[in-house]
Amino acid sequence: MGLVTSTEMFKKAYEGGYAVGAFNVNNMEIIQGIVEAAGEEQAPLILQVSAGARKYANPVYLRKLVEAAIEVSGLDICLHLDHGSDFEICKACVDTGFTSVMIDGSQHPFKENIALTKQVVDYAHDHGVVVEAELGKLAGIEDDIVVNAPNATFTDPDEAVEFVEKSGCDSLAITIGTSHGAFKFKSEPRLDFERLDTITNLLPGYPLVLHGASSVPKEFVDLCNQYGGQIPGAQGVPEEMLRKAAKSGVCKINIDTDLRLAMTASIRKVFVENPGWFDPRQYLAPGRSAIKAMVAHKMKNVLGCSHKR
Ligand SMILES: [Zn+2]
Repeated sequence: MGLVTSTEMFKKAYEGGYAVGAFNVNNMEIIQGIVEAAGEEQAPLILQVSAGARKYANPVYLRKLVEAAIEVSGLDICLHLDHGSDFEICKACVDTGFTSVMIDGSQHPFKENIALTKQVVDYAHDHGVVVEAELGKLAGIEDDIVVNAPNATFTDPDEAVEFVEKSGCDSLAITIGTSHGAFKFKSEPRLDFERLDTITNLLPGYPLVLHGASSVPKEFVDLCNQYGGQIPGAQGVPEEMLRKAAKSGVCKINIDTDLRLAMTASIRKVFVENPGWFDPRQYLAPGRSAIKAMVAHKMKNVLGCSHKR
């Protein structure tokens, strides 16, 4: 047991036609809920830390919590930096024990993205750490970065091949229609599976990554709405589409928004039903249980990674 890279996980996922879940973590209860689910499901696990999480919790707290989770659960866990924006932040995470980092150079022109990614790859590989890169611009909101739908661009398959060859990245986040946040589609959800298959065929055996892949289940949106506050018109990626992507070259699927919705819905319910409660444990424990249930559901029914440890 220990902190591991995603290399073996992706190899098995590719061969087995499933995807590994990468779940965003921000505090102890979220980490506990996810790790308990992974233990019960006997599923491979990636925990990821975004820039917003680092700002909120301090990366040292999060890393120590993940180390505690490994000690308590006996699981192997990959600790991943989500959306590193520059070389320095990736280097800092490599230096402090992360086993995987993402360099997101997708905002830069193609050649600059390659050069930046290669710089991170060279440093990370020297330290036994793997690198995820991104090609194509995802729409939606990631922390403070907002990309409007008209500025989003899908990943060009030929560019993807050139990018992987020249940068040496270990996995690649591609854009085929998913987006960050709870509002992904104005009308019918549509993913470009033709593009995904083309990229998979051009890069056989190579692990692809889907960001912005929360399903925003209606029951949780309804729960949130039922217990105060409105999250109107939220629209996620249907789970059967994710299942289909996991059977193609997609080996890692990021899930964040669905965890937020599950936790918030359960906490709102507690407050509405028990207005006199004020012990944080009384609402954080149900929040933790809701996270656990959501993660177990994803592993079993969406990612297909239960019992693949
Ligand atoms: Zn993302």
